[in-house]
Amino acid sequence: MSQWRVGDVSITRVIEIENAFRGTWLLPDATPEAVREVAWLRPLYAEEQGRLRMSAHSLVVRSGGLTILVDTGIGNDKDRPDVPGWHQRRGSFLTDLAAAGFPRESIDRVVCTHLHADHVGWNTMLERGSWIPTFPNARYLMGRVEFDHWTSRHDREDMEAVLADSVTPVWEAALVDLVETDHRICDEISLVPTLGHTPGHVSVRITSQGEEALITGDFMHHPCQIAKPDWSSTADNDPSEAQRTRERMLTGLSDAPILVIGTHFAGRTAGHVVRDGGAFRLAV
Ligand SMILES: [Zn+2]
Repeated sequence: MSQWRVGDVSITRVIEIENAFRGTWLLPDATPEAVREVAWLRPLYAEEQGRLRMSAHSLVVRSGGLTILVDTGIGNDKDRPDVPGWHQRRGSFLTDLAAAGFPRESIDRVVCTHLHADHVGWNTMLERGSWIPTFPNARYLMGRVEFDHWTSRHDREDMEAVLADSVTPVWEAALVDLVETDHRICDEISLVPTLGHTPGHVSVRITSQGEEALITGDFMHHPCQIAKPDWSSTADNDPSEAQRTRERMLTGLSDAPILVIGTHFAGRTAGHVVRDGGAFRLAV
């Protein structure tokens, strides 16, 4: 577990999975050789041989009286045959979340940065054969554009499964609020549109007492994309828009003292983007 403070706001990381793998699975340009050329990635974010370290975690943001869970990971018992590490998991996430001080009943808001399988998984849990909302006292905030996009197309079997087991049950329980990409959750927390990875993708901005942080979501997946903003992910819906978003966001982040908290950054999950030659690096 890691924790950060931004003014009066606390952010706590609860890890679901951490692992290392050959990066080309997700980022076709991230061959071991290309990764090793970016020396600052080792040892925190890449192994000596050039495999990428990554994490799936949720972030619990405490602001004022609100407890906000940003992204809900992969979940247990989900049928995800395309990704063996995600298929029919029996992980300890809910126990770990409670041990961090956040039993599931304590969550007031769930924010889904987008609706991919590894961001909505714990929206629901399996109880006596049915998917029920994991966080019964929460409003689940989902982007209107994102929701409309995935619920109006039916050409991706994998997303049909994700909607059926992780989105529709909370919708049918009337716990979903569809929000705009720049929605303000409370004085200190708001959404920021970071489109391209998905059509309605958002990041989460935290501002308090003159300090600022940004939870990335998946506009970048790994710190190597800070050095190489043109490295697109196989999961990017619109790769050229995703690249423009990374370049715009990294330029803005490098010009200001903003703590960047990576949604899939392993180990040292947070740092500051600084200029590095013609590109950027993450200073931790
Ligand atoms: Zn993701």
